[in-house]
Amino acid sequence: MIKFLDLKKVTESHLAEINEAVTRVVSSGWYLQGEENRRFEQSYSSYIGVKHTVGCANGLDALIWIFRAYIEQGIMNVGDEVIVPANTYIASILSITENGLIPVLVEPNINTYQLDEKCIEQAITDKTRAILLVHLYGQCAYTAGIGEICKNNNLKLVEDNAQAHGCLYNGQKTGSIGDAAGHSFYPGKNLGALGDAGAITTNDSQLADTVRSLANYGSSRKYVFKYTGRNSRLDEIQAAVLNVKLRYLDQDIDRRRSVARFYTENIVSDRVILPMISDWNAHVFHLFPVRTILRDELQRYLFDNGVETVIHYPIPPHKQECYAGWNSRSYPITEQIHAEELSLPISPVIEPEAVQRVVELINNWQ
Ligand SMILES: *Cc1c(COP(=O)(O)O)cnc(C)c1O
Repeated sequence: MIKFLDLKKVTESHLAEINEAVTRVVSSGWYLQGEENRRFEQSYSSYIGVKHTVGCANGLDALIWIFRAYIEQGIMNVGDEVIVPANTYIASILSITENGLIPVLVEPNINTYQLDEKCIEQAITDKTRAILLVHLYGQCAYTAGIGEICKNNNLKLVEDNAQAHGCLYNGQKTGSIGDAAGHSFYPGKNLGALGDAGAITTNDSQLADTVRSLANYGSSRKYVFKYTGRNSRLDEIQAAVLNVKLRYLDQDIDRRRSVARFYTENIVSDRVILPMISDWNAHVFHLFPVRTILRDELQRYLFDNGVETVIHYPIPPHKQECYAGWNSRSYPITEQIHAEELSLPISPVIEPEAVQRVVELINNWQ
């Protein structure tokens, strides 16, 4: 079976260094808020190109803390609106509703799958305070037009960079473009820990201080509490693993790009739509999403021939039970993507023969 993502093999490719890093933490006797966190926050800040990185428990929390900090600072209020792509992974939307803010779902562009700049302005009201821009599938969603819209309407630009570490917009890393960004280091992400982990990046020092306190019970000084925060910190063991894996991130992205290039240059089927790539630096191929109206058939055919694929995502957020009040709404482009999308295997460790095999199978699909 050609796996969609072989995480065991991903870890094994840096096994000696990971084991050394984990052992170092285990024997240090220091497991939280220590040297590994400091080192990771520094390295990640310089990698992304921001002043501050604040490690936290996971990517969802990273986004939750950004909005919560804006509320604590009086920049946003409960009931304010945040524009977010309707086809994102649900965590983006959860971070908004968790804070009592209102997500305003906006359709993506059918070719890029990213938030459609042309649909944003009509969604802006006098309650809109921010755009949560998701670099979905690892592709940059930022455009100069979106930057203009934020500036003209005094909106915060928050980036969901969970799938796009290392992605570039005109030479600038995503996660450094907006006012703040949430990052996930869930094991399957391009930069993955061996468990849950996340971070916030920003150039805003006050925001960095606030999110750091919020993720530490609401405290910046021991036993002094400014906010009703939670315990949402990044473990030293995970930070140590990330310190190893960050060193290989660019190399891993190069491998993903060469797999994507092979798919792009060799898949020839009039029934399969390949992702639109205008700038190869602006895509880190967390996923390689193709589209076909016969999606379920293609998935079954590939599976029957030994290839694992995944759908991102089978049910859009507005059709989920947790957002029952939205279930009767219609977002046709989002629904089309959810009905037609299929992610092909891609990772830094997939063998060229496996990629070749996937291409042959798709090209022979009758
Ligand atoms: C993974 C992901 C998140 C959440 O990150 P976790 O670390 O799993 O909490 C948020 N947004 C997007 C787009 C994601 O893919």
